Amino acid sequence: MRVLLISDIHANLSAFHAVLNAAPAYDAIWCLGDVVGYGPKPNECVSRLRELNAVTLTGNHDQAAIGNVALEHFRENARAALAWTRTVLTPENRAWLAARQATQLLYEFGITLVHASPRDPLWEYIENVRIARENFSRFDTPLCFYGHTHQPTAFHFRQEDRVIAPNSLRANLEYAVAPKLLLNPGSVGQPRDGDPRAAFAIYDTDAHSIMPARVAYDIQQTQREILQANLPAQLVARLAAGE
Ligand code: ZN
Repeated sequence: MRVLLISDIHANLSAFHAVLNAAPAYDAIWCLGDVVGYGPKPNECVSRLRELNAVTLTGNHDQAAIGNVALEHFRENARAALAWTRTVLTPENRAWLAARQATQLLYEFGITLVHASPRDPLWEYIENVRIARENFSRFDTPLCFYGHTHQPTAFHFRQEDRVIAPNSLRANLEYAVAPKLLLNPGSVGQPRDGDPRAAFAIYDTDAHSIMPARVAYDIQQTQREILQANLPAQLVARLAAGE
């Protein structure tokens, strides 16, 4: 089976469409949360995921958008976008978001999905080797896919020497599945690694390979939509810079 692995769409419909169009054939979609927040098209992104029957987690922004997390936990721009998102989400989409979990175990594939980290599925940023090391003992499957940092990254755990090797995921590389692996496909709707293109990965459960990829999208379209929705102008600049 081939899986389109995505995360952190953040209501960026133009980026989400570009990923769906660019992705090679796949049998399923796994989305690691933060479907909404920051971006101007929350309902459209949620509806598309629902139509596609995507396995979807909840993220900290999704939880805030449905009122489960207070807005004070977020910085100014994020908070403004979330306050707006709360006012526009339809009851159906709100209910669908509320039914998502922040972690999901897929026994048949030996995979743990989390939004942020195995030990703190909603908030912790796996942003260095120390944090990755502390999280390897917190999941029992060979693989764990996570999002939240918006950084395409993999941490391999080699049992022999107990070393963790971090990798920046680069386009068109294949990663054999290590004895234990933590992997973030990057963000669809708000990349933060200096590359403004939308990030995703294709996971082949039979070949045991994970191929990261990037695709350019119509950033100006999303920027116009941000301004039309009266969201903070800083969110416009951020998309073009990929930060
Ligand atoms: Zn996010």
